[in-house]
Amino acid sequence: TEYLSKRLSAVRPPQTIALALKVQQMKAEGHDIISLGQGELDFATPEHVAEAGIKAIRDGQTKYTAVAGTPELKAAIARKLKRDNGLDYEPAQIIAGTGAKQLVFNAMMATVDAGDDVVIPVPAWVSYPDIVRLAGGNPILVPMTAADGWKLTPDALAAALTPATKWVMLNSPGNPTGALYTAEELAALCDVLRDHHALIMADDIYELIVHEGSFATPAAVAPDMVDRILTVNGVSKGFAMTGWRLGYAAGPAWLVRAMDILQSQSTSNPSTISQAAAAAALDTDPAELQPRLTRLTARRDMVMEAIAKMPGVEAATPPASFYVFPSVEGLMGARTPEGGVIENDMDLSNYILAAARVAVVPGSAFDMPGHLRLAYALSEDRLAEAMDRMVTALSALE
Ligand code: PLP
Repeated sequence: TEYLSKRLSAVRPPQTIALALKVQQMKAEGHDIISLGQGELDFATPEHVAEAGIKAIRDGQTKYTAVAGTPELKAAIARKLKRDNGLDYEPAQIIAGTGAKQLVFNAMMATVDAGDDVVIPVPAWVSYPDIVRLAGGNPILVPMTAADGWKLTPDALAAALTPATKWVMLNSPGNPTGALYTAEELAALCDVLRDHHALIMADDIYELIVHEGSFATPAAVAPDMVDRILTVNGVSKGFAMTGWRLGYAAGPAWLVRAMDILQSQSTSNPSTISQAAAAAALDTDPAELQPRLTRLTARRDMVMEAIAKMPGVEAATPPASFYVFPSVEGLMGARTPEGGVIENDMDLSNYILAAARVAVVPGSAFDMPGHLRLAYALSEDRLAEAMDRMVTALSALE
């Protein structure tokens, strides 16, 4: 390890690694573990999208493309941004990459220097803080609360800003909470940022998974600030295409150009085949995705009904995404039937794994201890089984 760069040593070892290893080990031993841990839909990639990928291979679209994506994909992204979000972007303001994750990474690497702060409302996607650390910046974690619907308030944002703030990360619908900002709420946050120099990242990756309410995005609610907003999105979540690795971003041309340079010296273009498939995905009629969304909403309701039966577990019904993020504060200090004491969310996750054979992610992974993240991205019968097992295991705590 003495060979490791200082840059890499700044990244914290995932707190969930021990738990993940235990899940693997129990599976290898033949235990029937149900995982509520994966941020990935069980659905297949839509047929016409998969066909577009297959056709690309057959047509010989298997060579390098422009680093930031083919003209056809960029045109499909521009159509999508116009049609769904009312946003106008030129090809030079659009870049496709290997998953939304690469766009977030490249945006940070292109702009963040040592001493720069990046405001991250927490709980947040595990990768944000570490990507900021890899880029040499300081993640400034700003806690949100269940009482505020897990949404950053304008006051909390104003208090977190300093001259060193380079970026503010916004994510709606949110991972891990399923929070959804209204247009008015986003406008209020943009009002706070209007006279500050910070850039705004809008991570819209869960845009298509909305159960109630309507999706809004910062660039549309604060059009006067588009020069400072990078909108990140992709096909992973909405189209069940995690493995195709295709995300995109739209923002000011200078930033997109910088991200293009970085990408040209690391991965070059995202997979040509995935680009063709993503172009087909982005042109999909939303009505075609409705049956999947209806199923996801029913699953969410199933989880909420089960949570109501779990002593010490509490959550408001999340309006979006495929996650529920309940508080388990009520179980801290509880005794297991074996006589152990649940001290924190890691202990509880371990207990649920051992007693219910269900894998969940402790809130500490998202910088919000005292909670669990349950992803309902698995079949209805497995989900029902997982909920039954969790109710039984948690009811056995004293
Ligand atoms: N942003 C958030 C909030 C996520 O939860 C995820 C995936 O879990 C991503 C971005 C990355 O998505 P992609 O598969 O496009 O890299």
